[in-house]
Amino acid sequence: MEQVNARSIFSPATGFIQRGGFAWTCNPYLGCTFACSYCYAAFLPQNRRPLQDWGRWLVAKSNAVELARRQAHKVARQAVYLSSVTDPYVPVERSLKLTRGILDAMLPHQPRLLVQTRGPLVVRDVDLLRQFRSLRVNMSIPTDEEEVRCAFEPKAPPLERRWAAVETLRQAGLAVGICVTPMLPLRDPEAFVARLVACRPAVVVVQHFHQARTPFGADTGPAARQELARRQWSEADYLRCVELLRRTLTVYEAEEGFFPPPSESLQLMSTD
Ligand code: SF4
Repeated sequence: MEQVNARSIFSPATGFIQRGGFAWTCNPYLGCTFACSYCYAAFLPQNRRPLQDWGRWLVAKSNAVELARRQAHKVARQAVYLSSVTDPYVPVERSLKLTRGILDAMLPHQPRLLVQTRGPLVVRDVDLLRQFRSLRVNMSIPTDEEEVRCAFEPKAPPLERRWAAVETLRQAGLAVGICVTPMLPLRDPEAFVARLVACRPAVVVVQHFHQARTPFGADTGPAARQELARRQWSEADYLRCVELLRRTLTVYEAEEGFFPPPSESLQLMSTD
């Protein structure tokens, strides 16, 4: 893993993140060792390395916490997306604590914070997350099958650990969104939908794989598309699951689901 000194830790939001209502993005790392084969971040201009190397490298912004302490006033009460081109809870975060340090630096300035992750390590920071008055943690859980998860997200955390993290966050009274983005093949769609409904997420976001029309599509990896085709998971399967979900929940599709938490409101969820 490389370490660099960055010039800034908060960047003006662009693309669908900006359209969704965010003013800033924050990325403690570049690259992502979770190595999802469909990852859109690999195709963004920030990635100057070969596409086939995505998931095999990580750069830590070693001065991220110091920068955040100096610059967090810029994001006061504005919507911040953590993170847009990496995962803020990659394994090395356990020891480096860059994300944790940034959260601590932002706290006095109370941004409207969205934490987007696949990392159950997020529960380590519940003590800080609870102090944000406008916050949502989005956990990505795109399938119900570990074998499928391993095929598409070879180095990301097991699904059950993510569900457990969702429950811990919920029990702490935090607003939790579930991102099924992109929806990967499901072994038992009815049971998956029932589990989603039962955990009463603040937001559910779904997305189907499709041929990206822009370099910013969330599904641009050809290997991922080939794997999906091999498994014969079709758009009709996806639409059936979305229909099942819509019988009980409000469901947002793709980019429309990535919006900040409500301004300055406590979003305590029922924990019974
Ligand atoms: S966790 Fe997110 S940033 Fe990391 S590889 Fe997967 S989709 Fe990309």
